[in-house]
Amino acid sequence: MAADQNAKALVAGFRVLFGQKVALLFQWFDDIGRIAMDSGRPVFFNAQAADARRSGLVSPRPEDLVALVQNWTGPRPLRLCGGGTTSRAAVTDHWTLDLQTHFHRLEWQPADQSVWIGAGCRMGDVLEALRPHGRTVAAGLSGLPGLGYVLTGGMGPLSRQVGLAVDQVLEIKGVWGDGRPFELSRGTDGDSLEWRGLCGAAPFLGVVSELRMTTQPLQQLWLQQRSVFPDQLPELMLEAERADSSASLQWHWESSDAVQVLQISTAPWAGAERIDGLHQLPSLRGSAPIPSRSHTEVVGLLGPAAAELWGAVLPDLCRLLQHRPHPGCSLACQQLGVATQRVPVEATSFVHRDAEWKPWITAAWTPGDTPGQKRSLAWLEAVWQILEPICPGVHLAQLHDHLPFHHRELEAAFGPWLPELRKLKQRLDPAGTLPSL
Ligand SMILES: Cc1cc2nc3c(=O)[nH]c(=O)nc-3n(C[C@H](O)[C@H](O)[C@H](O)COP(=O)(O)OP(=O)(O)OC[C@H]3O[C@@H](n4cnc5c(N)ncnc54)[C@H](O)[C@@H]3O)c2cc1C
Repeated sequence: MAADQNAKALVAGFRVLFGQKVALLFQWFDDIGRIAMDSGRPVFFNAQAADARRSGLVSPRPEDLVALVQNWTGPRPLRLCGGGTTSRAAVTDHWTLDLQTHFHRLEWQPADQSVWIGAGCRMGDVLEALRPHGRTVAAGLSGLPGLGYVLTGGMGPLSRQVGLAVDQVLEIKGVWGDGRPFELSRGTDGDSLEWRGLCGAAPFLGVVSELRMTTQPLQQLWLQQRSVFPDQLPELMLEAERADSSASLQWHWESSDAVQVLQISTAPWAGAERIDGLHQLPSLRGSAPIPSRSHTEVVGLLGPAAAELWGAVLPDLCRLLQHRPHPGCSLACQQLGVATQRVPVEATSFVHRDAEWKPWITAAWTPGDTPGQKRSLAWLEAVWQILEPICPGVHLAQLHDHLPFHHRELEAAFGPWLPELRKLKQRLDPAGTLPSL
């Protein structure tokens, strides 16, 4: 559909939907009649999303969300921006549904010590809001990600103790891709396909406007951060696999011969530094220089406890890390296990319940450098190929429906659950308003 046809269709839709707001929406059109890019909005943290020549941004208020999805006549799929930290939060020639601007509910529920989190909140906001109550949530290594963190699984230093973030969800509200509103709760709907789909595959099925999750007591954490040689990794990983649920290991391979290791525990040990909670976590990169602004794609893998097998692939990994096509290309890893493995496979769309390790591979390139982009993505695939035998699963924390390995990622993320998930998608989002599965 041509851009100005889109514009007419959209305005017609919004005139019906929002009446008095049409004047405001007209401001989106530039003086030659195309849909303008309101690029001044800083909702996209991800540089690639920020630079995309998107058709436009729709920032509905919560009360307008159902009507907007129900009557969507613009190009599909709609892109969603929660925290806006992934590359597909905005895409050239697509519209983005911005949830960050108006979905800010953050409400402590003293009765059962849970918290309502709106789709526009970042995990760091949640940690801050809970601090006065002496509570916390199972957040990840950064406060930047938005609700996409929870909806795609969500693993962090407390995961071995309390489970994945998605395992803590009690209620979910939103609108399916076909425009029907939903309100589901674990108590009533926990056995339904819809609940299972939302917990781990929501980006394909619906727009979540807010969810309620359990909180944990805010507790002090002890950590140690240091640089090790790559060949020390298998031993450190073996020790970590043997450790109890209070401890977790994460590492970031920052240069060809140095890996930054971050060990975190709820129990003190000699030489460890104390912090007051996840809100004070240091960067996993340590003091490594921050790479210049780049475009990136990240693939997250999942594999069982197999520290000794990491030793076997280390020489190949060393070779690739020595020949990174861009300084931002990296390999990092975080630990799961114990509590994350106690949840039945059928309970959520996060099916890799045997996973102990989540390595993630980042491909980076200078914006606009197409050959550099190709080289870095080829490098990512080469690292993936080496790790695949020991980490056969995928953690679908980012969508890559523009890349050749999208279907491979879907298969590896959802495994035998994928055919059922596709049927669910067909029922809940038959027109493909949300990304394809
Ligand atoms: C600095 C950094 C640190 C990270 N650390 C961790 C970590 O420790 N552990 C971990 O598990 N992951 C981590 N991640 C990965 C991150 O949690 C995921 O990429 C997550 O999907 C980002 O969500 P978002 O809302 O910020 O991004 P967005 O780009 O806004 O959204 C990401 C995806 O989620 C979907 N989505 C977002 N909001 C909604 C909604 N309301 N309804 C339906 N779908 C929605 C979008 O469609 C999109 O596909 C990290 C990412 C970054 C950038």
